[in-house]
Amino acid sequence: MLTVDLALEQLLAAARPLTDSLTVPLTAARGQVLAHAVTSSIDVPAFDNSAMDGYALHVTDFAAAPLAEFALTQRIAAGDVGAPLAPGEAARIFTGAPLPPGANAIAMQEDCTVEAGAVRVSGPLREGQHIRRSGEDVAQGTVVLPAGTRLRATELGLAAAIGVAELAVLRPLRVALLSTGNELVEPGDALTPGKIYNSNRYMLRALLEDMGCVVTDYGIVADELELTTRLLGEAAAGNDVVISTGGVSVGEEDHVRAALQTHEWLALWKIAMKPGKPFAFGRIGDADFIGLPGNPVSSFATFTLLVRPFLLARLGVSESLPHLWLPAGFSRPKPIPRREFLRVRIEHGHAVPYANQSSGVLTSVVWADAFAVVPEHSTLEEGDPVRIIQLALLER
Ligand code: AMP
Ligand code: MG
Repeated sequence: MLTVDLALEQLLAAARPLTDSLTVPLTAARGQVLAHAVTSSIDVPAFDNSAMDGYALHVTDFAAAPLAEFALTQRIAAGDVGAPLAPGEAARIFTGAPLPPGANAIAMQEDCTVEAGAVRVSGPLREGQHIRRSGEDVAQGTVVLPAGTRLRATELGLAAAIGVAELAVLRPLRVALLSTGNELVEPGDALTPGKIYNSNRYMLRALLEDMGCVVTDYGIVADELELTTRLLGEAAAGNDVVISTGGVSVGEEDHVRAALQTHEWLALWKIAMKPGKPFAFGRIGDADFIGLPGNPVSSFATFTLLVRPFLLARLGVSESLPHLWLPAGFSRPKPIPRREFLRVRIEHGHAVPYANQSSGVLTSVVWADAFAVVPEHSTLEEGDPVRIIQLALLER
């Protein structure tokens, strides 16, 4: 058996990064991967401005006058530009409005009273207070987004903040998806004896699309050698990656192995993980081939832990899985040779497992917030620290 770490290492080493890029408007860039670094040509903020609604003034004037009265001479709203302040003067100012020359602090409006054209300030006042400095967020010339950044909501906001309207992104990965198994029928069709609904197709397609992949869905592929061979070849011709589920064990009805082993290279791994032992990796022509186990929880786990990092590597993205350590709300008295990924919920700061951890039980994944990782050959007592992989964060 291959350890999870070694399997991942081999996958990442074989991932050939895409280089084709295209330029898209910000509104079309969501979920894509940045092809080139983005450098800011401006300071953000571009000018010193007020962080509060209040009065702009000079603090030395305040220190000199115990009564702290200022002549109110102007009003500066966001988007306006103020005139210089003379000593003893104050300007009415609003959040985001530029600081007028001659001012070095903002008095909050809650600390001020205005009477007959004069502002009276109470409360302490220190130089620089409630001022947002030019360039404090982004200094001109700084790389704000390195190449390989996945563009999520906040990255798009930052690109907009520096005035960038278009971004160079990698073209999306084209992924073909095949669901193998004579037992499969599609939701919406009648469930006849011996059949099950094809759940992997919808789960994997959504996982792939969440990552920004363009999916060509081949639907159900019957367990027949000739058909499997033909469809795998077809899928490989038009895609970067071909992913199938089922049929990668060594049973007589597992034709994926037979279909590929004749003229393509294919590694059939037994990965020391639970769920998700059988896993195939290879190439069909110029496309990568990944064969996932048929059990839905196994295919979810192998996708999350191995396929997703591999696809991201093909996009030049290296992201570690979001994890933390929490006390186990369970025990594992008997060690097993496989690394276990228990479906758990985080309750009162503890990792609590779903009652049925079988690899076919998809309700466990729906219920869970996270995987709790029990290392291979290890025991665990309740309260021991256990590594938690936060599944919800992966969807960001
Ligand atoms: P296999 O890897 O083909 O031996 O399949 C392992 C188990 O997963 C069997 O119980 C299959 O019926 C089930 N399975 C395979 N493909 C799917 C699928 N697309 N959706 C749901 N279950 C599946
Ligand atoms: Mg099968």
